[in-house]
Amino acid sequence: MADKRIIVANDISPSDAASIDRSHALGVVTDSGSKTSHAVIVARSMKVPAVVGSRSLTTQVRTGDWILVDGYEGVVILHPSEQTLFRYGKIQLQKKSFEQRLIAANRQPSVTLDGATIALRANIEKEDEVPLVKEYFGSGVGLFRTEFLYLNAQRIPSEEEQFVAYRKVAEQLAPAPVVIRTLDLGGDKPFAADPTLFPREDNPFLGFRAIRFCLENLTLFKDQLRAILRASVGGNVRLMYPMISGSEELARANAVLEECRAELRAKRIPFDEKMPVGSMIEIPSAAYTVDILATKNDFLSIGTNDLIQYMLAIDRVNNRIAHLYEPTHPAIVRILQHIVTESHRAKIKVSVCGEMAGDPVLAPLLIGLGVDELSMTPPLLPAVKFIIRAMTVADAQALAKAALALTSPKEILALCDQFYRARVALE
Ligand code: PEP
Ligand code: MG
Repeated sequence: MADKRIIVANDISPSDAASIDRSHALGVVTDSGSKTSHAVIVARSMKVPAVVGSRSLTTQVRTGDWILVDGYEGVVILHPSEQTLFRYGKIQLQKKSFEQRLIAANRQPSVTLDGATIALRANIEKEDEVPLVKEYFGSGVGLFRTEFLYLNAQRIPSEEEQFVAYRKVAEQLAPAPVVIRTLDLGGDKPFAADPTLFPREDNPFLGFRAIRFCLENLTLFKDQLRAILRASVGGNVRLMYPMISGSEELARANAVLEECRAELRAKRIPFDEKMPVGSMIEIPSAAYTVDILATKNDFLSIGTNDLIQYMLAIDRVNNRIAHLYEPTHPAIVRILQHIVTESHRAKIKVSVCGEMAGDPVLAPLLIGLGVDELSMTPPLLPAVKFIIRAMTVADAQALAKAALALTSPKEILALCDQFYRARVALE
């Protein structure tokens, strides 16, 4: 216990977060950042309480001070009193017993009271997270953020190194699907070992990121595509492009993929000719042309973290405007409905793999809107499965219909909260 610490930092980069030793971290607090910054997403998978956007804690705290971190309510208390510790001790016991109920129920299938199965998949950042997926009964991986293989590497991983990592995940989880997302470097995830790849930009989230970067670095992109194709032999692998903005970009990416297939065929290297290929819908232009994209993809996955950032013009890592980052904004609810309707018109499945999917208060809204699958950080799976098993799809559809008729984000959130509380007794 003595060597366990709460980490307090001004900011934590995604690569720092990925390299934190999980066995020594008791909690994480940062002055900046917001709920969907990649550092926080990584902290969430570490199963430790995290509070972001404390603004100035680093100026008030010293190494060795006692602090209390309440990750549920987003509260940090410096030098807590005996009474506070006693009160929180009781809260912790209540939360523990609720979590134990969740974990026990998590062994059950993800089926609603009216018999609909909702696939719940896991988001992972590294190939060694497969045990976490299994521990939380994830039905495969809905999002493998492959850029984390690069973030702390001294050099770009080779095709062979990537192949080994992807095959390991695919084999361990087969026959469940593993959706491998091609590189999403850039934004808040530059490649530190080679700063020349990502020169400083004024607006990195609107800049040289993800598929834009890959289409200009074809050698590196093709290494990854070949690695994914080769890994497809070992399991149920699906490939997904991030940050697709429209059908031309998708066609360019698919042309590169086709070149890789031809190269492998020529060398008689086996791969799954039928490996499904999909795109993330996370840019408004893709969302509004989803009728076109849906006919050119085998599946779609909505990246709500970015879609909300770009729809509402809220930088997802800027904590000064974090209160304006509202997943229940009517614009978001409407665009989600549009994406689902058009995907289903084209007879393909659509999932959500942004943080919204792992929020048990918002998951029923997504299901009510018709989303087929949800993918999230493994420790969030039990709470989402719990609400799925306590509701009907018919009720979720009524919730979505009512939400679509409302005009304010707060009203829609309150409606979702009411839906959740009516079905899950918290104490
Ligand atoms: C998203 O944008 O919702 C998403 C899942 O991708 P990332 O968080 O890695 O940008
Ligand atoms: Mg994204």
